Amino acid sequence: MSLDVQALRQEFPILSREVHGKPLVYLDNAATTQKPQVVIDALVNYYSQSNSNVHRGAHFLSDEATRLYEDSRTVVANFINANAREEVIWTSGTTEGINIVSKGMAQRLKAGDQVVVTELEHHANLVTWQQACKHSGATLHVAPIDDNGTLDREAFTELLNKNTVFVAMPHVSNALGTVNPIVDLIRQVRTHAPKALVLIDGAQGIAHGNVDVRAIGCDFYVFSGHKLFGPTGVGVLWGKQAVLEDWPVWLTGGEMIASVSYQDATWGALPNRLEAGTPNIAGVIGLAAAVRWFQQLDMQAVQAHEKALLERAIELGAEIEGLRLIGNAKDKIGVYSFILEGSHPADVGFLLDRQGIAIRTGDHCAQPLMERLGVPGTARASFSIYNTLEEVEQLFVGLKKAQTMLA
Ligand code: PMP
Repeated sequence: MSLDVQALRQEFPILSREVHGKPLVYLDNAATTQKPQVVIDALVNYYSQSNSNVHRGAHFLSDEATRLYEDSRTVVANFINANAREEVIWTSGTTEGINIVSKGMAQRLKAGDQVVVTELEHHANLVTWQQACKHSGATLHVAPIDDNGTLDREAFTELLNKNTVFVAMPHVSNALGTVNPIVDLIRQVRTHAPKALVLIDGAQGIAHGNVDVRAIGCDFYVFSGHKLFGPTGVGVLWGKQAVLEDWPVWLTGGEMIASVSYQDATWGALPNRLEAGTPNIAGVIGLAAAVRWFQQLDMQAVQAHEKALLERAIELGAEIEGLRLIGNAKDKIGVYSFILEGSHPADVGFLLDRQGIAIRTGDHCAQPLMERLGVPGTARASFSIYNTLEEVEQLFVGLKKAQTMLA
């Protein structure tokens, strides 16, 4: 079955607006995806019908809000094939999820311990680990990539040993689109670094289908709602129950305690122990609406469509003189990072924007990766399920125009 992209587009109100007097061509999906009407409706319905605080009230609306909020946890747990709904911790996004894990880990790290990340990291999965190591005397090791942006598996494996206590890596690189073979890599970790816990940064992996945390075999998988057609300000930290159960608490305060005296407190059970304070209730409900919506799509068709968009981009890009594709891994999702020789990515982005085409330019929160690849930054078009082949073609027509203007 193929995707009915035109029908899909109708569900996204923003896609029919104009910018600078031109129909919007939205190719910045790795930064954030647009929201279907069902997600917008879920937010509006919540605030107009069910708004109340969760877990606290002895009244109808509070019960209703709690039910919607906790049902959302079950929806997400099923979506990623968690063992238990208590393994799903709501966060504000990927960044917070990684921080909960790295700050907790920092309390356990000691001199001589080793943490492994990769050269593909987003700052969120790098700076956090630098900080954790800095304050504990542990050392941070960075697994290298080749010039195409593919992780060097042998070098990765060589970094693993009995002192490796943590491995963090992206499912998919936001800057290059590289898909890491995480199942195989985690097998290597289990063989060579039996003590290590593994975190997968799923910010870019989650929207491309079939994330099954049990099959992946990691200890933590984190993602943001807003890259999965859901709202901003909400995300998920999934962790194995046994690992989360005694994970150092993150925020302390209301909701996460079992009992409190003036002198001391004890912590509640999962998931609340890692969710202090009033949560983003509307965001959680909106995220579950996005997950329900996404789940009814045919994942094979989604992946085939995204592949077709990327292939068309690669084909058309090859016809443009002076265009250099940055990141050409064999296994890659719809992220098309490039530079136009002789021009700055920011100028390219500006000139495309004037034509209604939204891309992202800069270092993509991956400064060390840009340095590794010898570029100051890139222009990045990133595709999603609602993009069309015509839009990809428009990108390249727009690029040719930009090139003439920059000449
Ligand atoms: N990791 C990756 C791979 C990302 O692409 C992003 C978002 N660009 C993040 C982490 C951080 O996500 P957020 O800003 O939603 O916390």
